[in-house]
Amino acid sequence: MRLKRRDLLFIMAGAGISFLPVSRLFAESGFDLGLQAQEFLAKGKFDQAISILKKGVKIDPQNEWLWGLLGRAYFQKKDMRGALDSFRKVLVLNPEDTYSRMMVDIITQKPVPPKKIEKKELTPLEKKALQEEQEIFARLKGEKGLGYHIRRIVLDPGHGGFDSGAVGLHKLQEKNVNLDVAKRTAAILNQKDSQLKIFLTRTEDYFVPLSARTTTANQYSADLFVSFHVNANRNRRPRGMETYFCSEKASSKEAARVAAFENSVIKLEKNELIKKGYVNIEEILFRFERKRYWQAGGKVASYLQTVLKHELPLKNRGIHSANFYVLRRAKMPSILLELGFISNPDEEYLLRQSDFRHKLALSVAKGILSLKTVKI
Ligand SMILES: [Zn+2]
Repeated sequence: MRLKRRDLLFIMAGAGISFLPVSRLFAESGFDLGLQAQEFLAKGKFDQAISILKKGVKIDPQNEWLWGLLGRAYFQKKDMRGALDSFRKVLVLNPEDTYSRMMVDIITQKPVPPKKIEKKELTPLEKKALQEEQEIFARLKGEKGLGYHIRRIVLDPGHGGFDSGAVGLHKLQEKNVNLDVAKRTAAILNQKDSQLKIFLTRTEDYFVPLSARTTTANQYSADLFVSFHVNANRNRRPRGMETYFCSEKASSKEAARVAAFENSVIKLEKNELIKKGYVNIEEILFRFERKRYWQAGGKVASYLQTVLKHELPLKNRGIHSANFYVLRRAKMPSILLELGFISNPDEEYLLRQSDFRHKLALSVAKGILSLKTVKI
């Protein structure tokens, strides 16, 4: 076996041999910085340790050992937000790390100050999302609206039963996240305003066909239909949240892809009405009516996304429209939320946390409650 420099330094460190002079023979790596930081930590010099470790994780962002040291340094300095973020990072890289899991548990028992959102240059995608959002806002300003207030709301936790929805790298299933966030949102809305009537299309883990979800909303004469989902992509990098409303044509290629995924379960549903040659008169008449609901859906989507982007530590991907089967037959304004990407390991980790799901529910509820003051 050929020993690498890293192995050699580990052996020396394990044997209690001073390693600093050796490490100085080499250019500074993440490993060297970690060793230096350990010395500072041992001396109680936490600021120096943090500044070295920050450099280290920049050079070697996949190094869970460095993230763990950074977590410890922040914890010693009583910077609980920094400690929590660092230990969570370790768990994203290595979900088996019991020490970091324990530290996350200890820290989250106490209130943690909110994350500071740093102002930074917008990426091309964020710029596009912002531009699209402004365009839709401008277009909707001129609309007269339906002129009624929201009292009856149907919340629709996407997927369920054999239809798991998207699944994350660490096996988190979309259907469970959707159900938990929707149920929490219902509880918060009921608690904040006893005048509201809230209904759920499912309350347990069972399958509900897409058409039945909208039929439920129509039967309840709901004023608003909100479908809860979590996004996914084959590429693990995309992150953030976006809100959709219904339109005949998708607002972008990406919107069409999301709608195709959310509609895909239709292949597994038995729908007697979708037969060749069947003419549905009601459907033809409804075609005229639904345009107004879709426009109102756009308005709701833009109001809700505005609240969500201020409340959540998730990237704002804006509002979009596409032909969602679950929205198209709704006789009321309807929207579909994609609250983060389960395919992104960082966001999958967040979506697994009950405190984060509660934050999602609080933000959605806040957005829905803000609609009461505007005419849709
Ligand atoms: Zn979904």
